[in-house]
This record gives sequence, structure tokens and C-alpha cells, in this order.
Amino acid sequence: MSPSAQPDLDPTQREIQSLVRDFARGEIAPHCDAWNRDHHVPVEVLRAMGELGMLGAIIPEEYGGAGLDYTSLALIIEEIAAVDAGTSVGVAAQNSLGASPIVRHGTEEQKRAHLPALATGERFVAYALTEPDAGSDAASLRTSATADGDDWVVSGAKQWITNGGFADLFILFARTGGPGARGVSAFLAPRGEGFTVGREIPKMGLHTSSTVELAFQDYRVPGSAMLAAEGEGMKIAFSTLDSGRVIIAAQACGIARGALETAVAYAQERTAFGGPIARLQGVQFPLAEIAARLDAAWLLTLHAARLRDAGAPHTAAGARAKLVASQVAVDAANVCVQTLGGYGYSAEFPAERYYRDAKITQIYEGTSEIQRLVIARDLLGDAARG
Ligand SMILES: Cc1cc2nc3c(=O)[nH]c(=O)nc-3n(C[C@H](O)[C@H](O)[C@H](O)COP(=O)(O)OP(=O)(O)OC[C@H]3O[C@@H](n4cnc5c(N)ncnc54)[C@H](O)[C@@H]3O)c2cc1C
Repeated sequence: MSPSAQPDLDPTQREIQSLVRDFARGEIAPHCDAWNRDHHVPVEVLRAMGELGMLGAIIPEEYGGAGLDYTSLALIIEEIAAVDAGTSVGVAAQNSLGASPIVRHGTEEQKRAHLPALATGERFVAYALTEPDAGSDAASLRTSATADGDDWVVSGAKQWITNGGFADLFILFARTGGPGARGVSAFLAPRGEGFTVGREIPKMGLHTSSTVELAFQDYRVPGSAMLAAEGEGMKIAFSTLDSGRVIIAAQACGIARGALETAVAYAQERTAFGGPIARLQGVQFPLAEIAARLDAAWLLTLHAARLRDAGAPHTAAGARAKLVASQVAVDAANVCVQTLGGYGYSAEFPAERYYRDAKITQIYEGTSEIQRLVIARDLLGDAARG
């Protein structure tokens, strides 16, 4: 089963979907319960995905990537997330948060220096925007970068950085000028002296994903490490998130599908009162409702991905897709737990993992409240800003 709505995928996209599905079922599914239980981040499996082209999915072929579009990346992430959400965000972050700003804003030299190793998984990249005191209000970030000759000297702290525990390179956003969005610049920051990768933050779910704190104390980056121009940082940050949200919507659809498949299979097997619980309308209706809403969420996601691929504005479409898909993921996981009854509450069945993992899709790359804000501004124009 997959979301039944799969319109107009071309043969290559269908091939990618089936290749990733086989990989996820063969290489991730047999292990992911243990990985999640042990909080093991499967970097070795991520690297294997690099060899198959998944880590460099959206990196152009001339820089060693697969040269795929965002629709294909959405298909990849949906398939992996249906099996393990934590592994899927590792692939998503490498592509849509890490490589994408380099592809879009890097100089030729920066692209040649970084993209080939990111495409193969020889190196990993993380996106370092959020700080302990600046999340939704990212433009208020306080990490500073001060000019010193040709270098920039960075001090400050970052929080919640996906893939940070093993990343070699960070898209680092720091304040190089005055307050607000215009004072922020972006840097390609490798690990180095004055750059501390801190603890893994204990989380409700996504136990196969690395999420760390970072600290900078007089950390130096050369001027050549700046991405685009001084003061362009927040534009880069926001445009990266615009596309990244489409991919998180795909992740949410994958989690929802995994939960729905688990619930359907269980309902067909489990007997109560003389027959399978699947014959009970009270069990059928929540599953039917999720199936219909999942198709709608998936269509929104593909629509937003296609706008991105066509070079059309996709900010509001991505926000709509993420808002809807993340709610479907949370509701599907809830229905899954309920359908499995006591086994749904057991850590020995995947339902409770879907339940814990689904929630993150309403929080990262912009909370659901921020998605509503983006949609409302698009809908109401300047009047929405007061
Ligand atoms: C597992 C995980 C991985 C992450 N990975 C990354 C990463 O790789 N890189 C990175 O930079 N960040 C990452 N993040 C950070 C994530 O994007 C932020 O947590 C998120 O944007 C919310 O910011 P916050 O946690 O500071 O919450 P806050 O901004 O403090 O929000 C708290 C609450 O207030 C609400 N709120 C805030 N402003 C408004 C408003 N204007 N209107 C209505 N409601 C509002 C929010 O919706 C939320 O409910 C990650 C977070 C997690 C948990």
C-alpha cells in the first residue's frame, strides 16, 4: 500500500520510488526497532544511501550528485519515513537543508569544494540556524561573527542541529551587522578550533537522528567561507526552509502511511468477539478517514514539490502541505496506537514509535503556528501584518 494518489509520476520517479522502497524494507526495517531502542544513529546506512545517490539527490550531476528534482526527493523521504522517520530526516537534512543552500547560493569554488563529498556521503552537512533563545523568531539570533582582517570570528551557541553529531560542515548563520534579518550572514563552517559540538539532546522520538548543541568561542572562518553576500543570511535561511518544508511534508506522509499500514494489517489479523476487528465499523472508520486525508496531504505535497521544480513560488504551498501532512501524521499515529489497543502502547510494537516520531513534523522547519502565519500572510497580504 502507498498513498493511493500517485498522479503523473514519470518512469524515472517510479523507479526511484521502488528502489528506495526496496532499500528501506531490506536495510532499514529489519534493524530500526533496535536502533531506536538503543538510540543508534545509523551513519553507516546513511553512507550506503550516499552510494545509491540518495544523499546527493538534489545535487547536480556535474558536482557528483544524482541531479534529481524535489518531487523525487519527496518520494525518497516518504519511502524512508514510512519505515523510520529518524533515518529519513538524516537524508532530508543532508539534501534540503545542507546541500541546497550551497547549490543555490554557493560560488563555483564553494560548490566544487563541498558538493562532491556531500553527494557520496563521504562528508555530512548540517544546518545551524536555531539558537537556545531564537527558534521561530530566527532573525533575532545572537551568534556573532566579527570581521578580523580577512577572517570572521564567531562566538555564540546553536541548538537542535540535526546530523550535527557527525557532520563535517555546517551552514552557520551568524550576526555580522545590526539587529534584525538584514544583519545576518551565512557561512560554510567546518569543524575547527573554537567550534565545540556539544551533547546529543535527549528527545521524545527520532531516536535514530542526531540532534546536538553547538558552541563557538573565537572560532575563525575565512571570508571566502561566506555564502552569497554579507547580510543575505536570512534570505538564504528562509528560502532553504521554504523548500525544506515540502520535504518535511513528505516525511509526515511517510510516517502516516507507515502508521496506517501497521494499523490495517493488525485490524485484519486481530480477532475480538468472534472475528477480525476489521469488520467493526468503529475500527474501520478512523482508518478510512486517515486514508482519505493522507491522499489529500500527499497531493498537496507533490503539488508544492512540483511548484518548486518548476521554479514557481512555493512558500505558501509548502506551508499548506506541511501544515496538513503533519496533522495527518499525528492523527494517523494516534489511530494506529488505538487500533492496536494495549499492543499499541507497547514499546515492542512500532505504533508508539510512530506516535512519538509524528509529533516532530509539527515543530521543526517551522511549527504549525508558523505555517498558519505564512499561509495567512499569503492569503491576506499586507493587511495580515497589521
Ligand atoms: C528534533 C529537532 C531537530 C531540529 N533540527 C534543526 C536543524 O537541523 N537546524 C536548525 O536550525 N533548527 C533545528 N530545529 C529547531 C526547530 O526548527 C525549532 O525548534 C522550531 O523552529 C521552533 O522553535 P523553538 O523551539 O525555539 O520554539 P519557539 O519559537 O520558542 O516557539 C514556542 C511556541 O510558540 C509558538 N510561536 C512562536 N512564535 C509564534 C507566532 N508568531 N505566532 C504564533 N505562535 C508562535 C510556536 O509555534 C511554539 O508553539 C530542530 C528541532 C528539533 C526538536
